[in-house]
Amino acid sequence: MPYNRLGSAGLQVSQFSFGSWVTFGGQVDTGLAKEQLQAAADAGVNFFDNAEVYAGGKSEQIMGEAIRELGWKRHEYVISTKFYWGINGEMPNMHYTLNRKYLMQAIDGSLERLGLDFVDLAYCHRPDPNTPIEETVYAMSDIVESGKALYWGTSEWSADEIRAAWEIADKRNLRKPVMEQPQYNLLHRDRVENEYARLYEDLGLGLTTWSPLAGGILTGKYVDGIPEGSRATLEGHDYLRAGAEKSRDQVRELAKIAADLGVSTGQLALGWVAANPHVSTVILGASSVKQLEENLGALKALESLDDDAGLKASIDELF
Ligand code: NDP
Repeated sequence: MPYNRLGSAGLQVSQFSFGSWVTFGGQVDTGLAKEQLQAAADAGVNFFDNAEVYAGGKSEQIMGEAIRELGWKRHEYVISTKFYWGINGEMPNMHYTLNRKYLMQAIDGSLERLGLDFVDLAYCHRPDPNTPIEETVYAMSDIVESGKALYWGTSEWSADEIRAAWEIADKRNLRKPVMEQPQYNLLHRDRVENEYARLYEDLGLGLTTWSPLAGGILTGKYVDGIPEGSRATLEGHDYLRAGAEKSRDQVRELAKIAADLGVSTGQLALGWVAANPHVSTVILGASSVKQLEENLGALKALESLDDDAGLKASIDELF
């Protein structure tokens, strides 16, 4: 497993990492979580992604419990959480905010659920137009200063918002945001490839990217219909049906290229994300150990993409 620096930070994260959205606390219980986490670690994965809001806090509990039962040592893994939506109710300061009061209490709640003294990465899960960016930067910097998180960053912030946060931190001698967590896959490219283009060099921004398979669409599993029990059948995820319909022809073409290479369609889609040098780590999602193992096999597709610029160009042309 290759490891990359998280942008200009010294922290090294595995090329492929593993996240728990939708799965932990829904499709995956602690027993299966243990199997998945260990399968990932056995393949060299060292970064595990989580968020306060995933399964209303249950995802953090399950990941914390599973890691404790597996007996992992704290220096062996990098773990994250994210704040914005809140899980304690809908009164002011409890949700849809990045104000100081919420953030300072949210980190304590996450650490308690995870059963940890600190997380490695803490993200502001969305921008909050109702809190001055300066207030959020001070709070996140204080969280890092307190030792409750080692690095902080953003998720789905605009390039302007990221730059504003970075410049405030720079000017005030505060801890700077070091990473962003955007969606990035063959069907969703613009932000990573265009909007953020200047930030990689200017700010040393690292990326931990999400939904590399567009929720499963890029495995090809939806080309001939909606399989029973798949994400598209879960409550709140029927947007996948329209996405699958729209991209059906492209995914069929991708499948042909993958077959010629001797990899699965999903592996080729994952390798394509990892081949972008600005991506520090590709966060995988999986509802079974089998899926996770297949996805970790994407390193083979990555090697082919690294060796053959024409291959990447032909995929780029398709999407
Ligand atoms: P993907 O786009 O890779 O989708 C994963 C889902 O696709 C699986 O749960 C599974 O769903 C299906 N799938 C995966 N592999 C296979 C396979 N080999 N064969 C068939 N089906 C497969 O990633 P996610 O959307 O899960 O995102 C990954 C992680 O990114 C999350 O866990 C989270 O940590 C992070 N994330 C962050 C966000 C943010 O706002 N910062 C937002 C979203 C995700 P099923 O079996 O149910 O069909």
